[in-house]
Amino acid sequence: MVFEGLRDRIDAVRERIHSAAARSGRNPQEIKLIAVTKVFPVDAILEGYDAGLRDFGENYVQEFEGKAPRVSGLEGARFHLIGHLQSNKTRKAAELFQVVHTVDSAKLARRLDDTGTPLDVLIEVKLSHEETKSGADAAEIEGIVETLRAAKHVRLTGLMTVPPWSEDAELSRPYFARLRAMAEQFHLPELSMGMSNDMEVAIEEGATWVRVGTALFGRRIKA
Ligand SMILES: *Cc1c(COP(=O)(O)O)cnc(C)c1O
Repeated sequence: MVFEGLRDRIDAVRERIHSAAARSGRNPQEIKLIAVTKVFPVDAILEGYDAGLRDFGENYVQEFEGKAPRVSGLEGARFHLIGHLQSNKTRKAAELFQVVHTVDSAKLARRLDDTGTPLDVLIEVKLSHEETKSGADAAEIEGIVETLRAAKHVRLTGLMTVPPWSEDAELSRPYFARLRAMAEQFHLPELSMGMSNDMEVAIEEGATWVRVGTALFGRRIKA
């Protein structure tokens, strides 16, 4: 065991999800947990799988390519790309992942569809003005939605966002509320939002996928 106490931490995260769902009158089954294993060794996925986790999030195509041979046989496991995708890596990403949360342009959407892979995708929306954040501007979403609705292979399921990081989870709330309003506008069922520090607020605002790393595996040394 590399990740001592992982089962207890999974229980604690599930408990947080349950109480946030209960508080907001939601069915906890609607909220799915993605265990974010970026930067950690492949043991995070293997031990998480043994402990019952099935959805895993990675940020970098190249990093996950190194782990993939050790985890490709895990039955029922699903791998989510939650980091920025460069258009020259679409083919590799489509091979390695089942869900891509970070489509941020019509061009990227078309390139993913051109791989002919039946992927689930979400559009990453940039709702803050931080220069370094990836994601499509709100004004571009409609065009990307149209491109994806016309796609043959990839299937648009929802929207994703990463608000500016803050100690105070309440500061994420307006971003989550805006993402939810946009998803309703386009009739999209899935909302990928909420991380270790703000998952409760995200659930209160309608999250269906929460992406949790630190609360499960501890602090990352780099990145
Ligand atoms: C790293 C990362 C997470 C997990 O963040 P934690 O604070 O460790 O839970 C979630 N989503 C994205 C997009 C990330 O890059």
